[in-house]
Amino acid sequence: MNPTSVLLLAGTTEASDLARLLDSTDGVEVLASLAGRTRAPAELPCPVRIGGFGGVHALAADLGDGHHHLLVDATHPFAAQMPHNAATAARIAGVPRLRLLRPPWQPVDGDDWHRVADLSAAARKLEELGARRVLLTVGRMSLVPFADLEGVHLVARSIEVPDEPTVPGATLILDRGPFDVGSESALLHDHAIDVLVTKNSGGAATSAKLVAAHQAGVSVVMVDRPSTPAGPVAETPVEAMAWIDSHRR
Ligand code: NAP
Repeated sequence: MNPTSVLLLAGTTEASDLARLLDSTDGVEVLASLAGRTRAPAELPCPVRIGGFGGVHALAADLGDGHHHLLVDATHPFAAQMPHNAATAARIAGVPRLRLLRPPWQPVDGDDWHRVADLSAAARKLEELGARRVLLTVGRMSLVPFADLEGVHLVARSIEVPDEPTVPGATLILDRGPFDVGSESALLHDHAIDVLVTKNSGGAATSAKLVAAHQAGVSVVMVDRPSTPAGPVAETPVEAMAWIDSHRR
C-alpha cells in the first residue's frame, strides 16, 4: 500500500517534534513546508520545501490530485494568514486538515497583565501605563508599531537581527530560548524594566519571562492571538499523531 503523505506547515518547535514522530512511523511520509523567513531554520528530519505556495488556490492545487492525503498546519500561533489559507485550500482539495496549536499562557494570581488585541494596541497601552523601560519580546518583524513611542527606552530581544526599519535608539539583544527564570530575572533587573510586552505564544521555551515578571512586579502587556479557523485542533505533537493515525489510509 502507498504511504500516507502528510504536508506539514512548519516553523515551530511543535512542527519539528511532529516531524520527528512521523519520521519514525512506518507507512507515513511527510513533507515539511517553511515560509522562508528565518535565515537559519532548525534542521528537520524530513524533506523540506521553502517559500510561500502563492496563495490559497496554489496550495489547493498542491494538495490535490492525491499529492498529499493529510494537511497539518503547525504554523506559529501568530501566523495570521496561513491557517486561513490552509483551511480554505484543504476544503477545496477535499483533504483533511488539523491545526496543531499549543495552548496560550494564562495569568496566575498576582500577575499584572494587560491584554491587548494587537501590536498597535500594545504600543498605546504602554503610553497609558506610563512605561519608561520596556522589554519587547514580540519578534524582529513586529517592532515597527513601537518605533514612535516618546520617553520610552525599548530593549528588544529577538533571535535574529531585525530588518529595516528598526526601532531607533533601542537596545537590541540577540538570543534564542529556551530561557530560565534566573536569566530572565537578571535581564529585567539589569535593564531596569518596568513593562514587558509579549505575544501570547504559549509554550515552555519562553514562559520563564512571565514568572520573572511576576516575581519582580513587572507589568505585562500581553498581545492576544489572531483568530483561528474552525476545525480540529491538537495541542501537542502526540495529539496530532493520534489524529494522523485515525486518518491513515
Ligand atoms: P502568515 O502571515 O500566516 O503567512 C503569510 C504568508 O507566508 C502565507 O500566506 C504564505 O504565503 C507564507 N507562509 C506562511 N507559513 C508558511 C509555511 N509554513 N510554508 C509555506 N508558506 C508559508 O505568517 P507570518 O506571520 O508571516 O509567519 C511566517 C512563518 O513564520 C509562519 O510559518 C510561522 O509559523 C512562522 N513564525 C511566525 C511568527 C509570528 O509571530 N508571526 C513567529 C514565529 C514563527 P503564500 O500565500 O504564498 O502561500
